[in-house]
Amino acid sequence: MKGDWKSRGFSTRAIHAGQQPDPTTGAVTVPIYATSTYVLDELGRHKGFEYARVQNPTRFALEANVAALEGGASGHAFASGMAAIATLMTLVRTGEHVVFSRNVYGGTYRFMTQVLSRYGVESSWVDSTDLANVRSALRPTTRLIYVETPTNPMMEVTDIAGAAELAHAHGALLAVDNTFMSPYFQRPLELGADVVVHSTTKFLNGHSDSIGGVLVARSAEQGEWFSFVQKSEGAIASPFDSFLILRGIKTLGVRMERHEANGRALAAHLASQPKVRKVFYPGLADHPGHAVQQRQASGFGALITFDLGDFAAAKRWLDRVEVMSLAESLGGVETLTSHPASMTHASVPPDKRAELGITDGLVRISAGIEDLADLLADVDQALAAV
Ligand SMILES: *Cc1c(COP(=O)(O)O)cnc(C)c1O
Repeated sequence: MKGDWKSRGFSTRAIHAGQQPDPTTGAVTVPIYATSTYVLDELGRHKGFEYARVQNPTRFALEANVAALEGGASGHAFASGMAAIATLMTLVRTGEHVVFSRNVYGGTYRFMTQVLSRYGVESSWVDSTDLANVRSALRPTTRLIYVETPTNPMMEVTDIAGAAELAHAHGALLAVDNTFMSPYFQRPLELGADVVVHSTTKFLNGHSDSIGGVLVARSAEQGEWFSFVQKSEGAIASPFDSFLILRGIKTLGVRMERHEANGRALAAHLASQPKVRKVFYPGLADHPGHAVQQRQASGFGALITFDLGDFAAAKRWLDRVEVMSLAESLGGVETLTSHPASMTHASVPPDKRAELGITDGLVRISAGIEDLADLLADVDQALAAV
């Protein structure tokens, strides 16, 4: 049936779900509906669109598309990944509690410990690679378990199905930040999670040219709440950003294949270099999360962290790269490299960083989709300077 994409493959859904040819002109691409309001047919009668904080066709297309890719009841697009996470946290009330994977995205940690803590929302941070730690952190007031897998930069892997079971047995919900894997490699709702979070800034948009976030709800009831908060709080994705993200998603399948092929090859190459003390990549057989990752995802992704021993060596690498760019962020077509201790994790106190294993010699790569030979040559010439 035309318009029913459920039975189709991933890339077919990525290109078509949520998108019909424009009813006015037949344009194959969903237009950017740059409008703040909509004319009524007559008093009391409209076409389902009243005011653009609440309804916008470009945003709706993106939301339906991401919901179809993650297999949820509804999608909700926001101005940033953090706005999506802040909206998710409105499920939690004063006096209630959330258990987090330690080492989740730094902005999530900051939001919980410096903003929501002011409203009496409590949080615990545990090594969720061992679910016994999650279980012992549960309290009668625990409303939500929140995991990010794999984590940045240590690539710690959490068993999503196991975490969902724990949450549900406790009467709580499981939310998964799926930014690193994208729905192409990992679909948490199929493994029992209740809500999926993405920073679309990363792989979904994929071209390092917009900031955005989405939530995907498993149930219609949660979806209605997220729509209500979108309307009430207003941190929605703009029509222009929605268009860009939708455009990015059309090539998600081919991009992820190439991101990962480059990621695997770079990880293997780095692991064979005497100057590299250790490589953290879930695709390597000696990675502690390798088996779980293999079971719950169909790929290992494009994020690689490695240890050059000390700050001076890491700095020499970072200052020397030519094809790779020294920058925060990840998931774009260009390969980026960064220094977690002084960049993404600078706000984490040194003793906490040490606890997480984020030493000064660590370097992270987000493998892009350039020619592998150029990336390998760049690794070799930058390592020569170390
Ligand atoms: C970037 C990122 C976020 C935050 O998203 P923004 O779009 O920067 O607000 C959340 N989670 C993960 C895993 C991220 O990488």
